Amino acid sequence: MTVAKDRLDALRAEIERRNPAQPEFHQAVREVLDTLAPVFAARPEYAESGLLERLLEPERQIIFRVPWTDDRGRVHVNRGYRVEFNSALGPYKGGLRFHPSVDIGVVKFLGFEQIFKNALTGLGIGGGKGGSDFDPHGKSDAEVMRFCQSFMTELYRHIGEHTDVPAGDIGVGGREIGYLFGQYRRITNRWEAGVLTGKGIGWGGSSIRPEATGYGSVLFAAEMLNVRGESLDGLTAVVSGSGNVALYTIEKLQQLGANPLTCSDSKGYVVDDKGIDLALLRQIKEVERGRVSEYAVRRGSSARFVPGGRVWEVPADVAFPSATQNELGADDARTLIENGVKAVSEGANMPTTPEAVHLFQAAGVAFGPGKAANAGGVAVSALEMAQNAGRVAWGRDRVEEELAGIMRSIHAVAHETAERYGTPGDYVAGANIAGFERVADAMLAQGII
Ligand code: NDP
Repeated sequence: MTVAKDRLDALRAEIERRNPAQPEFHQAVREVLDTLAPVFAARPEYAESGLLERLLEPERQIIFRVPWTDDRGRVHVNRGYRVEFNSALGPYKGGLRFHPSVDIGVVKFLGFEQIFKNALTGLGIGGGKGGSDFDPHGKSDAEVMRFCQSFMTELYRHIGEHTDVPAGDIGVGGREIGYLFGQYRRITNRWEAGVLTGKGIGWGGSSIRPEATGYGSVLFAAEMLNVRGESLDGLTAVVSGSGNVALYTIEKLQQLGANPLTCSDSKGYVVDDKGIDLALLRQIKEVERGRVSEYAVRRGSSARFVPGGRVWEVPADVAFPSATQNELGADDARTLIENGVKAVSEGANMPTTPEAVHLFQAAGVAFGPGKAANAGGVAVSALEMAQNAGRVAWGRDRVEEELAGIMRSIHAVAHETAERYGTPGDYVAGANIAGFERVADAMLAQGII
């Protein structure tokens, strides 16, 4: 075990040296390597084939210029990225993020996580991620369209239904996927539905895809509670974010009898003592593309907006970080634990800092890492690809049933793997190891490439 651990530490140091100024990528790598020592001790063949060195180096990294013109005729230049990380299990698969914080390190962290998450779904998809430092906030539809068209004018040559299949992420929802798909179709002169997922339901999209990540994260929490003989029914919840993942986390919580009290955006959070009025929140976020502060203005006396605050200070039984990376730190974890939180399920990618994860685990809080808990979105994306390949559209009930089955299976495999490696209840180790084993076995079988 010590030899394996020494080797993993050396590898981590080498990754940090060769990929300077990429803190999010270092964090994601460290979190995986920290859990793999028992696997390398048990399976020496993994150490002998340079497997980890290959896994840690993306197969391909693409960076490109994205020029576009705003409504006043001014030219802007953003940077576009696509990191095709690993295709041992299938075409690269992972979303596009449009946010000013996007750089190569952020895209690599997301792409690296995606490899293991996609493996955990049990479906045939590799790992990739992309995006741009473009900020869609405050842009008109026409500006977003021109940006998406320019972005796809370069990206199209790198993607395809058998090669690389992007989807949405922060700042990329149904509107952006529509513009991206339109430009791909125009350039290639092909109706290639399976090149993007998250499409509109009338033109190749899958039912339940918009809901899938949030629904899945709640189903994962329900599974973790079930192991402890508890359920979500009657519990209060704190949810961060107010985008795609947060909205459908709130919806599924309400369907299962829980009471979500909060939502947030980068300006602050809303707490509603009566529980979030989802219809009002959706009107503000999805129709008007407004801010959550507006919710408190319209909702009346049960709700208030806390500028700059963090939802984690609101006492609740379960927590769903669903906005962005590193949004829940050690102090937040201490507050949640003091307030008696039972479970935390990561709807976002890497929202909980490593220190906070350790605090939750030490306090016996059920902690579901994003790789497992938010895999419902990419799983339904893979089901969208399956429907596109068969030129069929499944009904809502069927997709929802498939999603529930996949989330149960991800929970079971993470839980069982953690027990097998002597860390019962540690879903971080269970998810990392189970995802890693599936990718590693495929890479070993396919030779040194
Ligand atoms: P959206 O763009 O729909 O919503 C993002 C939400 O998070 C907004 O409320 C946004 O507020 C807030 N947010 C974003 N960045 C920050 C920041 N730096 N500080 C504070 N708040 C922030 O994105 P999604 O809901 O799709 O994604 C949320 C998370 O879930 C991300 O981590 C994403 O990677 C992850 N995820 C998404 C999947 C999907 O299917 N969409 C699948 C799996 C994971 P504001 O508007 O003020 O920026």
